[in-house]
Amino acid sequence: MDGAAAARSAGPGPLLIRGGSLFDGTGAPPRPADLIVDGDRIGEIGPRGGFDGRAISNVLDASGMTVLPGLIDAHVHVGREPVHDGALYLSAGVTSVRDTGGVLERLVALRERSRSGSWQGPRLRICGPLLDGTPTIWPAEMSAVVESTADARSAVDRLAQAGVDALKVYSGIGPALVREIVSRARAYGLPVIGDLSATSASEAIEAGIAGLEHASVVYADLVPRDQQVTMQVFHERGAAVWRRQFNLGLAAADPTGPAARIIAGRIAQSGVWFDPTLVVLDRQARLDDPEVTGAPEVSLASETSRAMWAERVAGRATWTPADFASARRAFEVALTFVGEVVAANGTILVGSDAPNPYVVPGWSLHRELELLVHAGLTPRKTLAMATSGNALALGMSHMVGTLTQGKLADIVVVAGDPTADISRTRDIRYVIQGGTLVERAR
Ligand SMILES: [Zn+2]
Repeated sequence: MDGAAAARSAGPGPLLIRGGSLFDGTGAPPRPADLIVDGDRIGEIGPRGGFDGRAISNVLDASGMTVLPGLIDAHVHVGREPVHDGALYLSAGVTSVRDTGGVLERLVALRERSRSGSWQGPRLRICGPLLDGTPTIWPAEMSAVVESTADARSAVDRLAQAGVDALKVYSGIGPALVREIVSRARAYGLPVIGDLSATSASEAIEAGIAGLEHASVVYADLVPRDQQVTMQVFHERGAAVWRRQFNLGLAAADPTGPAARIIAGRIAQSGVWFDPTLVVLDRQARLDDPEVTGAPEVSLASETSRAMWAERVAGRATWTPADFASARRAFEVALTFVGEVVAANGTILVGSDAPNPYVVPGWSLHRELELLVHAGLTPRKTLAMATSGNALALGMSHMVGTLTQGKLADIVVVAGDPTADISRTRDIRYVIQGGTLVERAR
């Protein structure tokens, strides 16, 4: 895999992608088909060999390959290393992302640059700062404090006016304020997603939340109340201690028991987007594992990211092998619970939470696809969720997410058939964004 995404035009005139299997993103099985890229759009799609009589000089031979819509990551943070990470996302075939929490002004500016083409990176949807209680988990510049109904209204008004695409409620927000934020956001047509602690997943669903981030968001629904760790522990004793206790509780929970079935059923019936971000939970549970810290894609991450990750690993120095063992059990509980949501026919999104430690921008989405298949989703369904499903949730389905004539030409071409073997998505041969060939690996 080649991390450097050299921008390269496909040459003037239309481009014919010929001889491949087409996975159109809807969930239908791949079919032999040829596709024309016309300007920044997808042009005609026809049977294999159907355009051979046309005078098209730019031809891309996709024999033995699968042609897919560009992948979409529903959960990232792009503010820190936009130049480096932007190229990484594209080289991994991730042509659109949703930033789920960062510095508002920086994100608005980056989204503008992405629209005008002056940032080489994925199309961008933004949530702006995290709506949180005090003390905030993240620095003030990344947070908007909401402690009252009045705060909730003014924060939603301010962010809506700044043009965010969604809102994200965070750990410190209780159920009454989640309800207030959701109802205020509804007036602007803004979906609210949540990574929650003071509000349980079922309370958030009741409040009308649109999306739940991280499989561990069901912690309060699965773990008996007397075994739950509070955010007070986080603020008084630090993240490593809090996380250790959190994992102990989750590791002891039953992911297929009555409580799990109830919340999985609520997730499915409500139609809420469930974005498990298994890859970040997996990496966090294995920060002591050379397979994680020495994974081949790690060298592609920016130096700043790698330095930050090493610091985070050092913060886990007080963890014993038993702590890591319970972290791994907690991950298994989360993974099994995702299987329950899949079995209940819940709406799964595909997100990575890059660039958290060892969650490499772009490339970690491929690991997320594999983990979702491991949880019980079929490869075909997983790919449909990472394309058309994510596009719908991010409000982008009019532009991208399926290979449909007239949509923007965001296309990934991989060797082999990822609907038979999901890990084939890693074998990227071409990435096209808005009709421009941005990556040609190997
Ligand atoms: Zn995140």
